[in-house]
Amino acid sequence: MPFLVTEIIKKKRLGLVNTKEEIQFLVEGYTKNSVPDYQMAAWLMAVTLKGMSDQETHDLTSIMLHSGKVMNFSDITRPKVDKHSTGGVGDKTTLILGPIVAACGVVMPTIAGRGLGHTGGTLDKLESIPGFVTRLDSAKFARILRDDGLCFMGQTDEICPADKKIYALRDVTSTIESFPLICASIMSKKFAEGIDGLVLDVKAGSGAFMKTEDEAVALAQKLKGIGTHAGKKVAALITNMDEPLGSWVGNAVEVRECLKIMRNEKVTTREEKTKELSLTLAATMILIGGVEQSLAAARKKAEQTIIDGTAIRKFEKVCRAHGGDLSALPTARFKHEVIATETGFLGSLNSEEIGNSAILLRAGRKQVSDQIDPAAGIQIHKSLGDEVKKGEPLFTLFAEHKKLFEDCEKRLLGSARITAQRPTLKPLILRTLV
Ligand code: URA
Repeated sequence: MPFLVTEIIKKKRLGLVNTKEEIQFLVEGYTKNSVPDYQMAAWLMAVTLKGMSDQETHDLTSIMLHSGKVMNFSDITRPKVDKHSTGGVGDKTTLILGPIVAACGVVMPTIAGRGLGHTGGTLDKLESIPGFVTRLDSAKFARILRDDGLCFMGQTDEICPADKKIYALRDVTSTIESFPLICASIMSKKFAEGIDGLVLDVKAGSGAFMKTEDEAVALAQKLKGIGTHAGKKVAALITNMDEPLGSWVGNAVEVRECLKIMRNEKVTTREEKTKELSLTLAATMILIGGVEQSLAAARKKAEQTIIDGTAIRKFEKVCRAHGGDLSALPTARFKHEVIATETGFLGSLNSEEIGNSAILLRAGRKQVSDQIDPAAGIQIHKSLGDEVKKGEPLFTLFAEHKKLFEDCEKRLLGSARITAQRPTLKPLILRTLV
């Protein structure tokens, strides 16, 4: 049935409910170029200002999902469970939990993303491994998944094309920060992976898009609601992003942190948090995949894969299947220490500033077309609450050009607050919604 796009926009502008047919007419029209950018932008802004009912959000998710190919791995009888993180700084858990769950009998088909704003992206980290290919056609994706239980690829034109086009428009029309649009965008891409279950890592804090725990819980509940409505098993963890995760921020440097953890080597206090979060998320995936009946048993199984080496061997095999050569990880040409200028305790670390500093070193992009330096990054030496002495190194910077250090150093010194009193620390996992 034909509609007038102006009427669909007007209904939303007035705070009324759009029917599924109206949303379908608009989204399909936009994807096929019969609805122009300016009309879609007007509707997206109306949604951002007036919101959407749960039913509208479910409808939008389903319409975006079916705008492209939905992968079907029903011939794989093992449970198919993925993890989605809302994005953070130093957030590298996918590279660790993927091999762990695959070694435990869970299949993880992952459509991963690139860095967004100050946050890093799994695709960029994987592509820092020389030769690692993430542009896969669906046949190759399915083959690696069947053989190894774990495969990574980027979003293609076949997967949720409506979301791809709408997301690009949201990015330039200040309509990213809308819960229903975020939920439909994330969940349509996850459902396209053909999964049975999903574990959400919703980050809260200075390095996350959701700055407060309450906002993160609200987003997690909405995402979970969409998953459950679509018949998927969904669990959500609300996790602390007041400081970057782990000791390293960048790409190859983060891969090295993951290798150290999977090889069961001695880790720093900061790296211990990466390990802890990866194991908790992996255990939740193993639980909702039905491989184990309790979280404690799932956790034990996950830990065992690190102790007996099955996780690292799985990661090495998956890297080879993608063409990646872990022995050739790049190293930066220059390094530079950032020294504490006062004595006290590390009171806070502004993760967003640390993410932006990594961009200055070229570990992330200022513009979509920028090339990343895979070896660039930041090492963080202290944990929140640690004693800091004037003259001690707080950070070490790694880059291809020495001239990149100056701006980055200023920003990093501003990101670390040294306090007279030891700060009260928040837990890493703030809340769990199972
Ligand atoms: N990530 C997505 O994939 N979509 C959004 O809208 C926000 C974050």
